[in-house]
Amino acid sequence: MMEASRDSCDVAVIGAGMAGMAAALFAAQRGLSCIQIGNGGGLLFASGLLDLLGVQPVAEQRLWQSPYAALAALASEQPDHPLARVDVASVRRAFEAFVAALGTAGLQYAPLGERNRGVLTSIGTIKTTLGVPVSMVAGVDALAARLPCLLVDFRGLREFSARQIAAMLADRWPDLRYQRIEFPGFEAAPELYAAHLARALETGETRKQTIALVKPLLGDARAVGFPAVLGLARAGLVHAEFEAGLGVPVFEIPTMPASVPGLRLLGALEAAVCARGVRRRHQATVRALDFDGDGGAATLELDGAPGGERVRARAVVLATGRFTGRGLTADRGRIRESLLDIPVQQPDSRGAWHERDFLASSGHAINRAGLNVDHAWRPLDAGGRPVWRRLYAVGSILAHQDWMRSKCGSGLAIATAWAAVDQLAREFGGTAAG
Ligand SMILES: Cc1cc2nc3c(=O)[nH]c(=O)nc-3n(C[C@H](O)[C@H](O)[C@H](O)COP(=O)(O)OP(=O)(O)OC[C@H]3O[C@@H](n4cnc5c(N)ncnc54)[C@H](O)[C@@H]3O)c2cc1C
Repeated sequence: MMEASRDSCDVAVIGAGMAGMAAALFAAQRGLSCIQIGNGGGLLFASGLLDLLGVQPVAEQRLWQSPYAALAALASEQPDHPLARVDVASVRRAFEAFVAALGTAGLQYAPLGERNRGVLTSIGTIKTTLGVPVSMVAGVDALAARLPCLLVDFRGLREFSARQIAAMLADRWPDLRYQRIEFPGFEAAPELYAAHLARALETGETRKQTIALVKPLLGDARAVGFPAVLGLARAGLVHAEFEAGLGVPVFEIPTMPASVPGLRLLGALEAAVCARGVRRRHQATVRALDFDGDGGAATLELDGAPGGERVRARAVVLATGRFTGRGLTADRGRIRESLLDIPVQQPDSRGAWHERDFLASSGHAINRAGLNVDHAWRPLDAGGRPVWRRLYAVGSILAHQDWMRSKCGSGLAIATAWAAVDQLAREFGGTAAG
């Protein structure tokens, strides 16, 4: 039988969604050696937009222009919400550090302001968010000023219709026109996939041909919107060449998941953590987790490599997500934490998991289930004590939040990762917050 390989580190991060990536990045930035386990597939569902907080309270569906004012309201109205437990200065620093790391990895975001921005979606609604990739930001300005604008789509590209977007906004944005064109080189294809188009646009010839097709359609347009297919790893270059070639600001509209912006985010985050020395085990999962006494280390048993692997870590960050990430699982009776069966905050009975109304504005209690943590982000056992002195939990596995309805997915992930890494750095002897 093949023997399990062995490795060791200061911090093992379990999970490679937004929260796991943020935790690995922040730990490495503080000089801690880090092994990260898990595939980043969940990030492919991300839109590329980084929400901090858009809605509070959920039941009233109250939308906020300032995410920081929304955070203040959250702190007074729902102090047990995990985001309300991170001080605002740390939230700001966490976002700045995260966006800066993405920029260094080639995925540029517009400077983070004080206010949420309105971004056009592929179904013609307007999404409120804080962090907007540079490739989408001209759309924010065009929408705000209702500029004469052209939306272009490609015949055969599913789940994106420029015509539908324009129709949805007709009463509010009369100068929004649309055109459909053939994608150069794919004229015979009955169906197009966003990732294929993005890859094709990384070649200069396809870019030139596409720009040449759009230019005569411009008319009085002062901005042009495309589905988010303008390149993958070289998206910055593709976007810049479209703007230079068309002579007007160009913006992308996020498409349905799994999306090109999700692919870019995954690529940039992988590059960002690897550049800081994080050892990624992207094809592995943690099968078992065990702890020595309080002064000792954790042992992680990994599946995924022949013979398996055993990792020893001085601290562990649990960023395994909720149901889609598989951090939580539900059987007919109750919701469980998947790795250690840590107690999960949840309604007393299954009957109380859901409202009768599927679209109830207050949301469903099951979407607020998760782990209770102490002041240092350590999950608590049945006796209310930390499960282990250096086990931390971050992101959507935390209780008392419904990130989808609050529009705080990335905010929750990034801010709690920052706060937990800050705690564990202190535990390791005061490596100062970056
Ligand atoms: C459809 C969709 C749209 C979204 N749109 C937006 C948006 O517009 N704006 C925004 O800000 N955010 C958006 N998000 C992203 C959202 O911010 C994050 O997905 C959410 O915060 C959850 O992140 P997480 O890292 O906590 O969990 P997850 O993303 O669920 O990640 C959990 C990770 O843990 C891993 N894992 C679980 N168990 C193990 C194990 N035993 N061993 C190893 N790995 C394990 C999983 O493989 C996964 O990688 C969207 C997400 C989805 C699904």
